[in-house]
Amino acid sequence: MTRVLVLNSGSSSVKYRLLSVGPGEAVRLASGTIERIGEEGSPVADHAAALESAAEELSAAGFGIDSPELTAIGHRVVHGGTAFTEPTPITDEVVAGIRDLIPLAPLHNPANLAGIEVARRLRPDLPQVAVFDTAFHATIPAEASTYAIDRETAGRFGIRRYGFHGTSHAYVSREAAALADRPEANVIVLHLGNGASASAVAAGRCVDTSMGMTPLEGLVMGTRSGDVDPGAVLHLRRAAGMSLAEIDTLLNRRSGMLGLCGDNDMREVERRVAAGDPDAELALSVYCHRLRKYVGAYYAVLGTVDVIAFTGGVGENSSLVRSRALAGLEPLGIALDPARNSGGKGLISVEDSRVKVAVVPTDEELEIARQTLAVIPRTDRG
Ligand code: ADP
Repeated sequence: MTRVLVLNSGSSSVKYRLLSVGPGEAVRLASGTIERIGEEGSPVADHAAALESAAEELSAAGFGIDSPELTAIGHRVVHGGTAFTEPTPITDEVVAGIRDLIPLAPLHNPANLAGIEVARRLRPDLPQVAVFDTAFHATIPAEASTYAIDRETAGRFGIRRYGFHGTSHAYVSREAAALADRPEANVIVLHLGNGASASAVAAGRCVDTSMGMTPLEGLVMGTRSGDVDPGAVLHLRRAAGMSLAEIDTLLNRRSGMLGLCGDNDMREVERRVAAGDPDAELALSVYCHRLRKYVGAYYAVLGTVDVIAFTGGVGENSSLVRSRALAGLEPLGIALDPARNSGGKGLISVEDSRVKVAVVPTDEELEIARQTLAVIPRTDRG
């Protein structure tokens, strides 16, 4: 067993998880979240202070960050652009490369970098690896990653589909294929959390995904709109006189389920739907219609589908979303078993459903730990 510390440094929080990883198993030794970084009145002034707090918590749990038993540190990094398409051992050049990508991920990459810099100072002797949210989508072919806009402008400003949630799509598509007992399976993954994205995976390779140049495109999310006509953005600028900052806030923070019905927690939406609330009903209908549309689109992209896998807080827990998104798709070979669906674990389709449907809890930290171990020198692996 080998010990890996996984760090997910966001703009206002640092999540850490210490894992002991063996060939077929993994054990969580310690985990936690340091929140409210840099907020007024918060004791955690910056990422350095947050990592120190995490190190103290780890020590208190009996796992000092200075322990010789720690083998490597894996860092989640949101945007790898076209430069980083694999998990990458961190060097000064890699840090500079991640910094160059800040214009593509202005909120996320600086926070990821802050975590990396502090962790490198704390353990300069340890291999540290950057695992990119975009990397799993690097296999998407040009016809799916290219937006039909002027090529020169697109090229100059890096406008193309990158996709996000890649570690989750990688992990869940592999687990789903194993559950269906078909390592070469074609899988549609529906990652439905606060953010939400779909992907089409052919025999382990991602061929399309719903998030685009930014995490705003695609499915309806907690507070993000997903797909909207870009013409609407121009209209808001011209006719409503909204500033770019206001439009940004509208689409990223005041849209999605929150914008449609005032609630972005699916549990609350479901409660209101059960009570007959028309706004919640419309929000849920829009959410499920969008999901269904992507399932149909990715079915056509893949040609044949072996498994549809639901994951993320909504995907793993909402039998209502799963059943409404896939209702009436029996002619496509997709048939949910209502009892299994309400149980919500493993395969939830009827026994002879041509397309299997599964609930697969995601584990991004484990995936980051595995990818980290896969790229460090064998002699370092403990
Ligand atoms: P994140 O994208 O932040 O990782 P999660 O994957 O944890 O988010 O998903 C969070 C969302 O999952 C919550 O906003 C909530 O709407 C939804 N959720 C959690 N539990 C349930 C449940 N039992 N039923 C329906 N939705 C749920």
